[in-house]
Amino acid sequence: MGTYTSRRASISPHLIRRTVFVRKRKPEEDDETDQKTKEDDEHSWSSHTLQSFVSLVDGDFGYFEFSIQLTQHVLHTAAAVAWEAGKPLVIEEVEVAPPQAMEVRVKILFTSLCHTDVYFWEAKGQTPMFPRIFGHEAGGIVESVGEGVMDLKPGDHVLPVFTGECKECKSCKSEESNMCDLLRINTDRGVMLNDGKSRFSIKGKPIYHFVGTSTFSEYTVTHVGCLAKINPAAPLDKVCVLSCGISTGLGATLNVAKPKKGSTVAIFGLGAVGLAAAEGARIAGASRIIGVDLNSKRFEEAKKFGVTEFVNPKEHKKPVQEVIAEMTDGGVDRSVECTGSINAMISAFECVHDGWGVAVLVGVPNKNDAFKTHPMNFLNERTLTGTFFGNYKPRSDLPAVVEKYMNKELELEKFITHEVPFAQINKAFEYMLKGDGLRCIIRMDA
Ligand SMILES: [Zn+2]
Ligand SMILES: [Zn+2]
Repeated sequence: MGTYTSRRASISPHLIRRTVFVRKRKPEEDDETDQKTKEDDEHSWSSHTLQSFVSLVDGDFGYFEFSIQLTQHVLHTAAAVAWEAGKPLVIEEVEVAPPQAMEVRVKILFTSLCHTDVYFWEAKGQTPMFPRIFGHEAGGIVESVGEGVMDLKPGDHVLPVFTGECKECKSCKSEESNMCDLLRINTDRGVMLNDGKSRFSIKGKPIYHFVGTSTFSEYTVTHVGCLAKINPAAPLDKVCVLSCGISTGLGATLNVAKPKKGSTVAIFGLGAVGLAAAEGARIAGASRIIGVDLNSKRFEEAKKFGVTEFVNPKEHKKPVQEVIAEMTDGGVDRSVECTGSINAMISAFECVHDGWGVAVLVGVPNKNDAFKTHPMNFLNERTLTGTFFGNYKPRSDLPAVVEKYMNKELELEKFITHEVPFAQINKAFEYMLKGDGLRCIIRMDA
């Protein structure tokens, strides 16, 4: 890691390289020239600069038509590689291939660590896929685009998203779904859709991608459908947290639970996603926000997010749904579950008021979990629903979430509790494993 700075300094010339393609117009006229062209053509794919081709134009090649294209080279850049499950990441010099059709190469400026990265890095119970470059919450700038990319150009500010929006499939065309058929999250795929290959390698050895984003790298390649183009005035070191967890919790409340002004809302789980759900309830004008968590220490911090009351199920003899029903004269108007615990999911449903109560599930349950409740709860006109990425369509909806931050409706600073330079990315993992803080921003340029 000590040599990290000098490595970075050595990569900048690649950014300004240009490749020139030479196309022969009259091959039959000169055999000798034909031979030369072939060699030079091959050469042009690897290292010729525009300058060297200008000298060829001035020289022997009067018969040829030249087309100059801005194409991209392989970049040699720094990335944090996970070589093995649960072992600290290692900053390596990685080759990042140019973007292919419908792909975009992005310079990552800030990235943050989310539980999902840690879950797949630990690889307990899933198929391990290593070596891999993790990371899916980030903010960056488009460096170059592949064929067919019309919506983005170099210099655009973007948030990569682990689930995409192709804008072509049945789900993308439906107003009611954000579950893109083509680009929906796939944690088992470590390669690009286009050709089934990785764009990352170390001395020719491929390194796997993670959820189509792999943002723990100074440069990454993603499908164009996994990038939300945002206001270039938005500070990327803040809005990068909207790539995943914060949008998930916020959208669960604002887009799905939809509490009315003055309503009561219960939030199960006061981690980053739950607190984002509370932030959504605060923005919606809820009068009471009841936080439920097994860790009583979390209440103090939760107050910053609008949580007005706190319940620790361990401190009560009765089921927590009964405690909440008593506190609220029959139940809350809305509840949002952000823990992934099946018992919390059942409590979240059973604590809503009959007639109008809505419970929204966000947390990811264990494989063999089953939801058990009495059907009478449904006949009593309670609604149980769930959400994926807060029902946001990444490309269509995230720019407006960024604007909510820009116009000071949504507060993001309070989610950012730590910051580390890229070289110390493993510290971010330590904070998360200890349950210390909410989001740790990793600065790529430091
Ligand atoms: Zn789609
Ligand atoms: Zn995430």
